[in-house]
Amino acid sequence: MSRPSLQELERGVLAADRAILGRAITLIESSAQKDHAEAQALLARLLPRTGGAYRIGITGVPGVGKSTFIDELGTRLVSRGHKVVVLAVDPSSALSGGAILGDKTRMARLSVAEGAFIRPSPNGRSPGGVARRSREAMLVCEAAGFDVVLVETVGVGQSETAVADMVDFFLLLMLPGAGDELQGIKKGVLELADAIVVNKSDGNNVDRARLALGDLRAALRYLPRKRQSVRTQVFSTSGLTGEGIDAVWANIVEQRQTLQASGELATLRADQQRTWMWTLIAERLDRAFRADPTVATELPLIEANVLSGTLTPTAAADQLLDHFGIQQGD
Ligand code: GDP
Repeated sequence: MSRPSLQELERGVLAADRAILGRAITLIESSAQKDHAEAQALLARLLPRTGGAYRIGITGVPGVGKSTFIDELGTRLVSRGHKVVVLAVDPSSALSGGAILGDKTRMARLSVAEGAFIRPSPNGRSPGGVARRSREAMLVCEAAGFDVVLVETVGVGQSETAVADMVDFFLLLMLPGAGDELQGIKKGVLELADAIVVNKSDGNNVDRARLALGDLRAALRYLPRKRQSVRTQVFSTSGLTGEGIDAVWANIVEQRQTLQASGELATLRADQQRTWMWTLIAERLDRAFRADPTVATELPLIEANVLSGTLTPTAAADQLLDHFGIQQGD
């Protein structure tokens, strides 16, 4: 197929044509300068049709059971008439070029389900770039009529924050275990969660899961509330048997209704848009700064002087920014 025109892309996406949807996302993921304007033009056309989906982030360490959980949840939702897309934000793909998430073989049933679409992580230049592309891919999928967007990520770098910043509901999957294991949670991740799930609560794990549930509920009492009108809930599930999965979904639906009624959902999404804008500005400024010829020439020596302690970081920043045309006090 030759390169589709903007109009063909728009029509194809709105008609939920899978092949065109894939092409549209590829366009958005492209880092080629020439594709940027076209991707933005497409998004501008699709924007009025976006925003309708349940936007759900799912995180947890490798092996916690994310793909099994998503396969089970997604299959249940599809059977109830939902259209489900799975996007992956895999920060390791920015470094290694390989994707450990969003691989279709990891979700055997969902990948062949009529109402589902699974998209692996884009290979971005930076974790921020990977997250940005997934955010825009989410909008395209919404325009194509998908009403549940599951964004899968792993706890590396800033990816969890980036995903939490693009969804309405952030789900943290944990392994059964208590006490010491709780201490191992990366700082700040509990605070991001709208629900915490003790997964693999089956077989020999049942008792340990019960303990973990208690510990997590206790830990949550000491944390500030994430949302005004809803509390972070703790669940036990098994992706393998399906136990507990419907309760998690019911919580997602209930939270959405509450936040919609209170107006918090609209505020939350508006705030996310603003944060996103500032993230893009910061990224572009950073790139422009580093690409500046004078800055690039001066940087190695100035940085070496900071490292050796002969120049203060403040003086170094002043000098470099001065080379970039930003005066002290600007
Ligand atoms: P991911 O790396 O987080 O996506 O984890 P996977 O879904 O690939 O699961 C890792 C391993 O745990 C696999 O061998 C699964 O069969 C197993 N597993 C996944 N979910 C469950 C569960 O609910 N209970 C049990 N007992 N094992 C599970």
